[in-house]
Amino acid sequence: MLNVPSPAFPAPGSQQRAASGGRSKVPLKQGRSLMDWIRLTKSGKDLTGLKGRLIEVTEEELIKHNKKDDCWVCIRGLVYNVSPYMEYHPGGEDELMRAAGSDGTDLFDQVHRWVNYESMLKECLVGRMAVKPVVLAKENHEKKPLNGILLKSKVPDLPVKEISPSYDWFQTESLVTIVIYTKQKDMDSESVIVDYQDGCFRAEIVVNDYSYLLHTELSHEIQEDITARVTEKTGKVEIILKKKNNVSWKYLGHPLESHNSFTAHREKGLYYRKCKLISKVDVTHDTKLYCLMMPPGTHLQVPIGQHVYLKQTIAGAEIVKPYTPVLESLHSDLREPLHPHNKYIYVIIKIYHTGLFTPHFDCLQIGDYVSLSNPEGNFKKSQLQDLEELFLLAAGTGFTPMVKILNYALANITNLRKVKLMFFNKTEEDILWRNQLEQLADKERRFEVEFILSEPTCEWIGKQGRISLPLLSKFVKRSLENSRVLICICGPAPFTEQGIRLLKDLNFSQEEVHSFTA
Ligand code: FAD
Ligand code: NAP
Repeated sequence: MLNVPSPAFPAPGSQQRAASGGRSKVPLKQGRSLMDWIRLTKSGKDLTGLKGRLIEVTEEELIKHNKKDDCWVCIRGLVYNVSPYMEYHPGGEDELMRAAGSDGTDLFDQVHRWVNYESMLKECLVGRMAVKPVVLAKENHEKKPLNGILLKSKVPDLPVKEISPSYDWFQTESLVTIVIYTKQKDMDSESVIVDYQDGCFRAEIVVNDYSYLLHTELSHEIQEDITARVTEKTGKVEIILKKKNNVSWKYLGHPLESHNSFTAHREKGLYYRKCKLISKVDVTHDTKLYCLMMPPGTHLQVPIGQHVYLKQTIAGAEIVKPYTPVLESLHSDLREPLHPHNKYIYVIIKIYHTGLFTPHFDCLQIGDYVSLSNPEGNFKKSQLQDLEELFLLAAGTGFTPMVKILNYALANITNLRKVKLMFFNKTEEDILWRNQLEQLADKERRFEVEFILSEPTCEWIGKQGRISLPLLSKFVKRSLENSRVLICICGPAPFTEQGIRLLKDLNFSQEEVHSFTA
């Protein structure tokens, strides 16, 4: 019997994360949308040509299937016949053919690690790569085996291994405290993600590009309100559990998968928990602010500039899309937030009527659930440190990462002299939180906002057009010759790409420009 993925795939170790580089979509033929693909996979048609049989595939066999109409690709040890999928691939046939007859794991990870291929391609599964006996070489120069999983080591390279965190625990009559020594400075509570459900305790401590995982079935029951405390200077993390019964624990629990491991993010799958939709409020004619409540045993704060993945099952397939959490409002610094940040998440989502994910998401009723992943992203708060001028270039929902950045910078960066937001939209009706932005500009002398419309009505007296050199050269200007600046840019991929090119032409360095892409 082959080791074929169970219906519970993706397994915790699988990879579904956003890649750093951008990706262009190609126009698909009529009847070739993702929804059409899902329908085809449910039709009972034999998509592998093997009549439901699963086989062991040798390297020699895989290489033979390298043509458009006979194309096999190996991803993480599993081989798929992707020929039937060619016309449905949003990145185009040529892109898919780059992996024809070979191990496409790395290529796949570069472009869209977060896409749930196990679910999308399960009807195309041919089988598993035949595992070759591995002769361990003395040096690590050997060729990577085709099954793509053999050499994925959980033990990081030496320099990182040296700083691998460790943990300990102690108890009082009513509490159990788990202490994690990360030996890393500048840790904060955003670096600690805790989940407790059905007796299973899972804590992920993010240390730069790695995560330290504690995963255990606790020996006794606990209450669901878990506290995480971080000592920034020493990197000591304390997770405080309240015992349900005041008895003495002899041991913490039974280790579960990957317990006490320290793994690079790129090698890890995303962990999801089910969150409850508790409100949705119109922002514009096609965008809404949704509030999601995390389960009671979860402690998670999304760092500024980072996104999460939302996952829904649509027509039997798991569909995953990234979204960047925002604040409840731009005025949330003025009063206590209605809901604590580590229990509730707000997202502004634009509903595309012809889209796959968003129409379905918008049909969720208050009280329904959606799966939400751990945060991801390459923006670091430290990029804002010592900043004097911050420029935010946003188009459409590309405004979402700017919300927390704007709020954080105004509240925390003491040297900051100016924050300027240039917000590109089609029409006035499309501008997200326009009133709030204008109110903020009135109240906060360091903040300026400019709206640019690509499809204005004749009444519009503001700026119009698309992102361009004349617009940027006027707007993105250092007020002093040596000002420390950061320019954040986010929107449709071509907008962002063009913006980056123009900023380069305006002599801003790479370090001074941060783009949000997937
Ligand atoms: P899709 O099915 O992707 O379709 C979107 C539109 O493109 C539709 O009009 C559709 O008809 C068209 N389309 C689809 N495929 C093709 C094709 N091959 N050729 C031509 N047109 C096509 N969005 C938000 O609203 N809020 C956020 O906070 C947010 N954060 C994000 C963060 C990141 C890091 C990234 C990468 C994206 C973010 N997005 C955000 C966008 C979001 O992830 C989805 O892409 C968006 O919600 C559309 O999803 P969908 O499945 O509904 O639409
Ligand atoms: P939209 O309404 O279609 O467009 C917003 C503005 O951008 C419009 O003025 C539009 O001008 C302009 N624009 C679009 N394409 C352009 C191009 N090729 N060159 C220059 N300007 C262009 O935008 P949207 O539907 O809200 O889409 C927002 C995008 O942001 C999505 O692609 C989403 O994935 C992305 N996003 C990314 C992140 C992230 O973190 N990476 C976060 C949130 C959103 P025209 O009217 O002339 O087209």
